[in-house]
Order: sequence, then C-alpha cells, then structure tokens
Amino acid sequence: MTFADLGLSDKLLKAVTDAGYTEPTAIQAEAIPPVLMMKDIIGIAQTGTGKTASFVLPMIDVLSSGRRRARMPRSLILEPTRELAAQVAENFEKYGANHDLKMALLIGGVQMGDQVKALDEGVDVLIATPGRLMDLFERGKIMLNGCELLVIDEADRMLDMGFIPDIEFICSKLPENRQTMLFSATMPPPIEKLAKKFLSNPKRIETARAASTNKDITAFKVPVKARQKRDTLTWLLRNDLVETAIIFANRKTTVRDLNKSLSKAGFSSGEIHGDMDQSSRLSELERFKSGDINILVASDVAARGLDVKGVSHVFNYDTPWHPDDYVHRIGRTGRAGAKGRAFTLVSDEDAEAISNVEKLTGSKINVFGKKDVRVEMKEAPEKSTPKKRDMRGDEPSEQAAEGEKPARKPRRKPAEKRAEESAPQVAKETSRPDEAKRGQKRDARETPSDEGAVEKPKRSRKPRDSDDNEPAKAGEWNGPKPGFLDVGLG
Ligand code: AMP
Repeated sequence: MTFADLGLSDKLLKAVTDAGYTEPTAIQAEAIPPVLMMKDIIGIAQTGTGKTASFVLPMIDVLSSGRRRARMPRSLILEPTRELAAQVAENFEKYGANHDLKMALLIGGVQMGDQVKALDEGVDVLIATPGRLMDLFERGKIMLNGCELLVIDEADRMLDMGFIPDIEFICSKLPENRQTMLFSATMPPPIEKLAKKFLSNPKRIETARAASTNKDITAFKVPVKARQKRDTLTWLLRNDLVETAIIFANRKTTVRDLNKSLSKAGFSSGEIHGDMDQSSRLSELERFKSGDINILVASDVAARGLDVKGVSHVFNYDTPWHPDDYVHRIGRTGRAGAKGRAFTLVSDEDAEAISNVEKLTGSKINVFGKKDVRVEMKEAPEKSTPKKRDMRGDEPSEQAAEGEKPARKPRRKPAEKRAEESAPQVAKETSRPDEAKRGQKRDARETPSDEGAVEKPKRSRKPRDSDDNEPAKAGEWNGPKPGFLDVGLG
C-alpha cells in the first residue's frame, strides 16, 4: 500500500514524501479514503500510530477548494491540551506546505489579540482547546455555523479533563450536516454516547487493542522504598544507556524538586508542568526537542501525544493514579518503530496504582532484575556538555534503539556484577498505609494548566537525598549499597 493508493492529491503526495514517509501507517491506510469520501469516522488509536496525519492529510484535500470567510472557520480540530494543539498545528504546516490554506491556533495562556486578528481575516482550519474556543465564542469573536468539518481528538482525555459538556455545546453550534471525526485511545461509555449523539453512521477504525502498550517498549517495574526513589532513579539514569529521558511524576512539586536535584547532580535536565505559563512550557519543550537538555521532568500535562522522536527512556517516578496515563506516559518512547525502555519505580504507595495498570493492560510488568541490566558505566551527562541534536528527525542511538547490550570493553567485570556492586538498595521497612490513599483522587474538571496539580502531602521527615549534589564518576556509585535488583514485588 502506498500513499498514492489512498486517493490523495499530487500536492499532498509531495508533502508526504518531503516529510520522509514512504508508506501509510495502518490508521492512515484505513482512515484516509473514507475521510476523503466525507464520511464520519471513529478512530480508536493511540498517539504514535500516525493518527494525526490520518485526519490532517485528507482534511487538507477536502478543504483545498472553497473560500474562507471572516470569523467563520471552515473546519475545527479540538485538542485537550495546548501542547497537543500546537503539535497538530505544526503537522498542518508541514503537510499543507503546498496548499494555500490558513490556519489559526486558539489556545489558552497566550494573548487573544493575534488569535482574534487571524479569525477576522478568515481561516480554513481552526485548531483549538475547548476552553479558549468557548471564551472567544462567548465574546462573539467567532461563529461556528460555517464549520463543515470537525475533529475531536483524544476524546477520552477530554473526558478525563471534564471537557465533554463544552464539546457537546460546541457540537450543537456546528451545522448538522458536517463531517465529524472522533479519535480516542479508548472508548469508555461516555465517549460512545458522545459518538452516538454527534456522529452519523461513522466508520469505526481500530488499529490497536484499547489500553495495549507498544511492543517496541521494554517495560519494567522497580520495587523501591519511597525514600530511595531518587537514588534509584539517578542510578538508572547513569547506568541504563540513557540518551534522552522523560521522567513523569504525579505532583507538580515533585517535578520541580526532582528537576532541581537532577540539575544539581550534574544532569542536563528541565521541567514541564501545569504551573508554568504557556511560553515557558513551550520553550522548555523546545530545549528538550533541540537537545539542549536530554532529561525532561514532567507532570501528566506532557504525557499525551507529545511527539518527540528519539526518547530512549521513560521513567515513572510515581505510578500514575489513572492507569490510562501509564500507557500514554510510556508511549513517549518506542515511537515510530524505534525501541524504548520504560521504568516505573514502585513503592508501597504505588502498589494499588500499579496493580490497576496491570489490570488495564492485561499483563504483569516485569520486575527489573540482574538479567535486565545494560550497564555501560559512563559519566553522568554534565551540564556543560549537553548533546546538541534535533530530535525531531533522529532515532535513538543504535544501542538504545536496538535494545541490545553494548559491546563490552575488555577486562571489565560483567554487567551483572558491576550492577550488583553499584545498585541502590531497597529498604526493608514498609511505608504507612495512609500515605498510599492520599492524593489518589484527581479533580475531573482540571484544566490543562492544572493537570497533575495535586500537592504533595507534607513530609514528616526530610528525604535522604544528599547524594544528589555530587555527580558520580564513571563506574562509581555514590549512593546506597546494592539491593533492588534482587527484590520482587509481592
Ligand atoms: P502521531 O501518532 O500522529 O502522533 O504520529 C507519530 C509520529 O509518526 C509522528 O512523528 C509522525 O511524524 C510520524 N508519522 C506519521 N505518519 C508516518 C508515516 N506514514 N511514516 C512514518 N512516520 C510517520
């Protein structure tokens, strides 16, 4: 199957070739022809499957004829977060390079002036988050009755974030005979209901089992005591051939603390969370994408759909409270056919959450053990020598991408032995059960900027993280003695 077989125009085929794509992904092969025939579709697909192009490409051809009018966008793409909206806009620019189509991005956290101006000039494609769109609609700056094509992307995420009433309102303002596409990684009952109400005779396309995880990702859980998480993370960052990593934490305070301590320890790291304004979030993301930093500590605001190629590792510093988020977090690695590694640090506090993840994915996550160590002791990535590269087009290095053990240098101890000698230890005491319960509920009505906003419970005791201040030398572990590699989860 080639892109030409799908019925796309020559101008689009050129853009696709320029993007470096040689053949359509499964969702593209199935979705593009019906979209070109103006059919409604339900696409059950995760990010990383090429789903953005599956609606953006045919939309460009559908919109290529017709005239734009002031304040009346011809099509609308709804995204749950600002980052995703900005990313879809980037895709639109790339695929629409040979077309004369105008696009506007309506997201919160930036001034409205330019957005209103763009709307006044007329747009073919409006990419928006529900909050800002509602705001401008209520101010009378935008009319939706000329909008003949609607995409609701990441619908299950919209549900998690409490956006469904806004979406219902927006749908009711669009013409009834519009074309509607709904994409979602999972189809919980409220999304089925929404689809039934607003889509007409949709073609259903499912490319991967709901809540399944990518087979290119090798995932581990690492049993630890809560107070040893930082040491364990640092050990893994230094010893698992980490090229680039996203580290997820459940709380914004943890994100901030962790980034601070990793930076102090000599890692080239940054942070992204809901307390930052939009321009700081985007510029931090840009630093990560461009290779200025190779470690990004993030709250779940960055978990869905962010497309950064060449992320070799994902670390869950905490197990996410919503099991769906696990699939989305680890989906930031192992993209576009590359191999990735995902580690979830599991303390007693995470026990319930990890068991929910395993229930959702239908499989037990392997416990990280001696046989899994890929030790090639190397210097911690120093701040002064960050790796400069454009990760948009890069794959992870061969070693990381292939997931193979590196070639051994002569006269070095075997990896297992070295790992045993340098790995941090799991303490034997159990953490208090009341801690596990705390903070597990999240307000379903969080706005994107509040995501992951649950504050950390007050600590009765200072965490033991004094080792974070000194970068380790090659082959040297500054932290506690070996242990976690032998411990299994009950
Ligand atoms: P998405 O699922 O839309 O987030 O896309 C994931 C990644 O796959 C993006 O980096 C796209 O640029 C890339 N991609 C999309 N379609 C193709 C294709 N047909 N061949 C290769 N890469 C693709």
